[in-house]
Amino acid sequence: MIEKMSIYKGKPAETKDGVRIQLLVNIMDAGSVEKIFEVGADGVGLFRTEFLYMNNKKLPTEMEQFSIYRSVAEKLAPMPVTIRTMDIGGDKEVESLHLAKEENPFLGYRAIRICLNQTEIFKQQLRAILRASAYGKIQIMFPMISCMEELEQAQEILEDAKTELLAEGIEFDQGILTGMMVEVPSVAIMAERFIEKVDFFSIGSNDLTQYTLAVDRQNEKISGLYDYFHPAVLNLIRNSIEACIRAGKPCSLCGEMAADIQAVPILLGLGLRKFSVNPSLVLAVKQVLANSSVDEVKQLAIKACETNSAEDVRKLIKTKSGDGC
Ligand code: PEP
Ligand code: MG
Repeated sequence: MIEKMSIYKGKPAETKDGVRIQLLVNIMDAGSVEKIFEVGADGVGLFRTEFLYMNNKKLPTEMEQFSIYRSVAEKLAPMPVTIRTMDIGGDKEVESLHLAKEENPFLGYRAIRICLNQTEIFKQQLRAILRASAYGKIQIMFPMISCMEELEQAQEILEDAKTELLAEGIEFDQGILTGMMVEVPSVAIMAERFIEKVDFFSIGSNDLTQYTLAVDRQNEKISGLYDYFHPAVLNLIRNSIEACIRAGKPCSLCGEMAADIQAVPILLGLGLRKFSVNPSLVLAVKQVLANSSVDEVKQLAIKACETNSAEDVRKLIKTKSGDGC
């Protein structure tokens, strides 16, 4: 199986009927960049920057961050690198922020909520990302947006950071694209309105599943309930993808689901054309894509959205794979 997959190393991701798919990777440090060349991916769809904060007794400085973001952007240029601003909290603790323990950390003070409260730390990260954008094709992405005000405030702070750099005569990509994660149901439901305000979406199926189904993604006792094949989750994904298609803006999916070989045909059928996965799974995803044709999977995806349960979706996938779809 491994040997067979290696034939996809030098090939672009493409479906059986010749539709080119952008296949990106998720990384959390500059060290993973070489793997992108090894597997022949199209860039970075998700750079999880919180790890720069987590493995440190002190907060990383603007210069420290700038040098990491710059090295990734430079090595990969002209491939895109989507840098997600820090997604601290929930399961990700940062010693130097001295965050209080919470009863419901996943519903509490996390990610963009921390950034909008500790704006100096946020602005420092935005300045570092902007400065690095002069050296490659960087895009900025905000995590855990749940309402329009959060997005607007984040964008205002980004504009402040740009104004500061301009005043200081520091170069950055003035046309830098800015997007957001769709990982809270409120956003997926209002996808049409959110996409008007950003350049792209990236669906975070890990959190979207957790929040849609009210199932802690890490609680083993209820892991049977955590299922991204649940039609409620599929319909929210569909709504987000379709909003992007109508707006003519890109949509990717960067949660674990993007690399699940059973989920890939459904996502493709829902119209997804950008997948972001762990580097070790790129070849497996290329293989599934190469064996799927867009016309066939469209029907599968629509039927999956119309079922009543995740179990029904799994049954449907089983029947379809028997049909050679
Ligand atoms: C997600 O929620 O799907 C996601 C990609 O973000 P993280 O797993 O880092 O929360
Ligand atoms: Mg998430």
